[in-house]
Amino acid sequence: MADKRDYYEVLGVAKDADDKTIKSAYRKLAKKYHPDTNPGDKEAEAKFKEASEAYAVLSDADKRRQYDQFGHAAFENGGGGAGAGGFDFGDMGDIFGDIFGGDIFGSMFGGGRSRNSNGPRRGADIRVNVRISFEESVTGTSKKIEVTLKDPCNSCHGSGAKAGTQPETCSHCHGSGQVVMQQQSMFGVIRNVQPCPDCHGTGKIIKDKCPDCHGTGYISSRKTIEVNIPAGIDNGQCVRIQGKGEPGTNGGQRGDLLVAVMIASSPDFERDGYNIFSDVKISYPTAVLGGEIKVKTVDGEVLYEVKPGTDSGTRVRLKGKGMPSVRNKAVRGDHYMTLIVEIPKKLNKEQQEALLAYDKVLTGEEKHPKKKGLFGK
Ligand SMILES: [Zn+2]
Ligand SMILES: [Zn+2]
Repeated sequence: MADKRDYYEVLGVAKDADDKTIKSAYRKLAKKYHPDTNPGDKEAEAKFKEASEAYAVLSDADKRRQYDQFGHAAFENGGGGAGAGGFDFGDMGDIFGDIFGGDIFGSMFGGGRSRNSNGPRRGADIRVNVRISFEESVTGTSKKIEVTLKDPCNSCHGSGAKAGTQPETCSHCHGSGQVVMQQQSMFGVIRNVQPCPDCHGTGKIIKDKCPDCHGTGYISSRKTIEVNIPAGIDNGQCVRIQGKGEPGTNGGQRGDLLVAVMIASSPDFERDGYNIFSDVKISYPTAVLGGEIKVKTVDGEVLYEVKPGTDSGTRVRLKGKGMPSVRNKAVRGDHYMTLIVEIPKKLNKEQQEALLAYDKVLTGEEKHPKKKGLFGK
């Protein structure tokens, strides 16, 4: 232990280097000296171990403080550090998972899960859909949904092994959960890290399965969960409920429940962002003479004063009558309505005569209803 190199020197960083610098220095060394990239090279292996040990200490605020104070002595027998037995490699799993996850093995060797299976791993998220009406998306709502959730089995406390037995360390991968596959390629031998096929990456083999959970360690049950959907939510947006996803493994936290909100379309309104659009029909006299009309908004009916001489297709903005923002209900978009002048499709004799009289007043020409067509049927 006496001739150990200084940890900062090993990683080639300054004494006051920040976490990011330390991590990236270690990442470089680890890539260079990793046993999988240097098969059979003892010197590389030693360098890799040295760098990993330095990183394990310097990346941990507590250990780094002890090291800064006592040097290597902090982790020797009787030192103030990791206790009897010298250096503590107990949490290296985390470090490798962190450093290598999707990086070295993922990108260099293409595929193959590299996260160390023995470290705590967060459970997966569960996705479900919920349907709400357009009106509910305006006001916000609360929905009860049913999901199948896994909980640790009470009989085996999540181990999956029959009472009185324990899962055994997988003999194929020696408990690492990973196996290295060698492949011949044009660049030479490529090593690919994959989950162990015998234990499916768990590192453990269960000989006598717990009869209650069939060895899975979990019991599934239907649970009713209440989801609060905020006002202003848009179609396809998700509400995240923390801790209601799949259970984590090896002490990892549960995943989340992601509730995707599907909004039924409205017969009256279209939505784009926080703005609302609608078509509003007005009569020909109203378009010509102007007048008050009732229009539908998401807040209910409101009165609107049509200006005299309004063309069909005129767009009007009703400020602040759009959708509320999901973050702040008080902030709202606008409502744009397009005024459409309605052309009557069927008129009785009296109405036809009134229209023709009107036409004569305007143009001075006398016209007669057509025998065929829309009028006079
Ligand atoms: Zn069980
Ligand atoms: Zn295995």
